[in-house]
Amino acid sequence: MHSFDVIVIGAGAAGMMCAAEAGKRGRSVLIIDHASVPGEKIRISGGGRCNFTNIHASPKSFLSQNPHFCISPLSRYTQKNFIGLVERYGIAYHEKTLGQLFCDGSARQIIDMLVTEMRDGGVEMRFATSVESVVPADDGFELKLNSGKTRCKSLVIACGGKSIPKMGATGFGYELAEQFDLPIVETRPALVPLTFDANTLAKLAPLSGVAVDAEVSCGKTRFGEAMLFTHRGISGPSILQISSYWREGDEISISMLPGADVAAILRDAKRMNGRQAVQTVLGAHLPKKLAQTIAERLGFNGNLADLNDAHLKAVDAAVNQWRIKPAGSEGYRTAEVTLGGVDTKALDQKTMQAKSVPGLYFIGEVVDVTGWLGGYNFQWAWSSGWVAGQAV
Ligand code: FAD
Repeated sequence: MHSFDVIVIGAGAAGMMCAAEAGKRGRSVLIIDHASVPGEKIRISGGGRCNFTNIHASPKSFLSQNPHFCISPLSRYTQKNFIGLVERYGIAYHEKTLGQLFCDGSARQIIDMLVTEMRDGGVEMRFATSVESVVPADDGFELKLNSGKTRCKSLVIACGGKSIPKMGATGFGYELAEQFDLPIVETRPALVPLTFDANTLAKLAPLSGVAVDAEVSCGKTRFGEAMLFTHRGISGPSILQISSYWREGDEISISMLPGADVAAILRDAKRMNGRQAVQTVLGAHLPKKLAQTIAERLGFNGNLADLNDAHLKAVDAAVNQWRIKPAGSEGYRTAEVTLGGVDTKALDQKTMQAKSVPGLYFIGEVVDVTGWLGGYNFQWAWSSGWVAGQAV
């Protein structure tokens, strides 16, 4: 039976980084994936241009039950390190917004770069390969693959989260953690559009496709970015961000003209010309369909002259303190990431190794570390993969 120093399960972002680093350190490495090609999520990420990191990546942009865990991996392999790698490969990139770095060309360039790095490290790659079982063996693990049995001293689990099952996401990493008695922090879809109940949807149906720059908050957490009305509810960057903090039953508060005193705008407009309609004045600041829906919802379809100060304040509240209770989320079908995962209490942040199972490592999304939208999740994959790559 062939034996490797290291086997990595999952040729995604974290797994490829780890395999390349381990290979470059002279370890014999096998990376396997049940998909027929590596890095499928990288390929579709960032609308095909891969938002591969964020200039501002720091531990405060990550959610975890133990927020300190990610400090060490993120500081040992930083966004600057990954940008350096991208530049060595001559991959052109640009900052889109808020520190988010995207390829100028195709996300495939990032996949090709990682595959080349693995080749340089002498990594053996096997695709369309699934794992039937993993059992502890002398000085390591024995794996039963669909192609036969193999052994390794270090086993790295890099098989991602549950999001987008259509693309091959499985719960395999969590099952394996459970097999070795490692605790799991409850998982849930994150960076995901939120949905409304049928009643609310019926009222907001005309808004499907309308976008605004909004400030969205849930509890003490607040994000200011674009928001999009959809035929199921709301989406767009600000909603995806807040979805990681939202829980069933929570209300979210939405400001669609952040920083503007809408009552004052209406009062001034009324003074100038009381015969204007509310939606006409709002329509100068908001998409027209949205302005109209707000006026109709409040029953303020007449002239500004007909409205008193309390009415104007009600419009202000409808625009800037719209409180709504989403019915749910679109779930793993469209979630960009999985919140929760292998409990970091069980892992060593210097190596990503399970404290109670020497030789077993967990990296990337399968671990309970989840980033904000904007390149943070890939940075976690690179950082945790690199750290494990130095240790295996
Ligand atoms: P993955 O990249 O998911 O890789 C896991 C690998 O394991 C896969 O290749 C899978 O086929 C394989 N696998 C799973 N189960 C098994 C099994 N049982 N046996 C063998 N192999 C298995 N993040 C950003 O930072 N920037 C972005 O622009 C961005 N865009 C995204 C767009 C979309 C549509 C989605 C869904 C996610 C996006 N993300 C983005 C999130 C990012 O893709 C993930 O956080 C990241 O890919 C996680 O890396 P990973 O290596 O842990 O897992």
